[in-house]
Amino acid sequence: MASFKELGLSDEILKVLEELGFEKPTDIQAESIPLLLEKNQDLIGLAQTGTGKTAAFGLPLLERIDPNNKATQALVLAPTRELGQQIAEQLHTFSKYQKKVSVLAVYGGAAIVNQIKALRKPQHVIIATPGRLIDLIKRKAVKLDELQYLVLDEADEMLNMGFKEEIDKNLSYTPDDKLTWLFSATMPDEIKGIVRKYMDQPLEVKVNTKNEVNANIEHQYIVVRRRDKEEALLRILDSDPDIRGVVFCRTRLDTQDLAEFLMRRKYRADALHGDMSQAQRDKVMKRFKAKSLQVLIATDVAARGIDVNDLTHVFHFTLPDQNAYYTHRSGRTARAGKKGISIAFIGSSDQYKIKMLQKKLGIKFEAKEIPSAEDIVAKAVEKWCHEVLDTKTKGKLDDQLIEQANILFGNLSKEELTAKVLLNELQKLNIGSDRNLNDEFKQRGEGGRSDRGRGGRRDGGGKNKYKGKKKFDRSGRSSKGKKKNKSSGSFAKDAKNRYKRKKKKA
Ligand code: AMP
Repeated sequence: MASFKELGLSDEILKVLEELGFEKPTDIQAESIPLLLEKNQDLIGLAQTGTGKTAAFGLPLLERIDPNNKATQALVLAPTRELGQQIAEQLHTFSKYQKKVSVLAVYGGAAIVNQIKALRKPQHVIIATPGRLIDLIKRKAVKLDELQYLVLDEADEMLNMGFKEEIDKNLSYTPDDKLTWLFSATMPDEIKGIVRKYMDQPLEVKVNTKNEVNANIEHQYIVVRRRDKEEALLRILDSDPDIRGVVFCRTRLDTQDLAEFLMRRKYRADALHGDMSQAQRDKVMKRFKAKSLQVLIATDVAARGIDVNDLTHVFHFTLPDQNAYYTHRSGRTARAGKKGISIAFIGSSDQYKIKMLQKKLGIKFEAKEIPSAEDIVAKAVEKWCHEVLDTKTKGKLDDQLIEQANILFGNLSKEELTAKVLLNELQKLNIGSDRNLNDEFKQRGEGGRSDRGRGGRRDGGGKNKYKGKKKFDRSGRSSKGKKKNKSSGSFAKDAKNRYKRKKKKA
């Protein structure tokens, strides 16, 4: 594959790409950049989010801007504020050495006055959400009569969100001879309508359409009853403290409820949905990016285009109705060449949906077990013991304090002391109950009935072993998960293996 230099980019841009560690172009970049730099023709780019689309159109756009012309020369329309902000962030970075090129994002939910003020200065590239742009045009804060380049990013999503009229209106203020670059993950009929209406013999670039889903994602599913989903999520989060991800719900209310459930249990979680103010959403995203949140609970629309690197997991608390949404959701993980896991929480009668996704998206799902409370505890104990063993004490504690503790513990045997300290540690764990949460229906295959009946519990249920009176031991550990090369079938065991590998490396 050609290097960025061979694609025809300038030294200023090449320098930034090197600083960013972009070693080679992604497929969509390799195919689009030379066309967008050289050809004065419209272009349709079919690619998923997370494939490097922003640089694919952003780099040629920045190269084409004439910094000595103060007019707005390029407009990027994006479906959400978050995506608009992210595009602007990337374009600011890419234009680091093109000192005279100015880029501004305008979007609803933020004070329009500040945006109008910013627009008093020349802005060569404007990134906008469709509704806010109409407002600004009507207030004469934006003039598009010298526009040369229009980018419609995530065009399918803009239509899904009902922006058809706004797009028409915005485009009516732009000159006919501009170039239009349309990017979309899918090509539904409505997009074809836009292409017919607004584009002239467009070039077409398609990447990864056969297997649209990023190959670095491992797809998994668990079968769980609706009322056990929250607890199943806790178990998975507890099974590996390194998990960082997005949990998708279908409605704003579900999103809010689940986020509150997790927060009540002291998980570092928060919600992201359309009923929140822009300031609230910005705050949540800032915390998530800074890693002070472990999980973001989001609706499809609010999470659209979220570009946070290093997310290990995407959870589908409920599966989306459209296959394309599964792709968008799972694309929040495994970004920029990294690996990621996408886990669907499904009811026993939903297994046909997994089959359908496998067929339609050309992906393979692996069934997983929800970790048992014992799995989680065993892992926590092992981790804690290693931490204790690895703790360096020399010179860190006053001898008097050690002596004081030794006097107070004086009568305890090592076994008694270990038991007390261990129980103290385990009581900090957040295990709700030690029930088996795996829905046994699945043991009978699709749609089959378990002889326990719906909602049957295997093991008494409901009691928290560490906070209650029950004695803790490892005898209840599930021995079901057979050893496989890649994955054990159990989250807790996978996490444990990951931990061991990490330790070995260190
Ligand atoms: P996008 O699809 O534009 O949202 O990009 C997804 C992520 O990949 C972003 O974090 C980009 O910074 C990153 N990225 C884009 N192009 C490359 C590249 N050629 N090499 C490495 N990372 C990239």
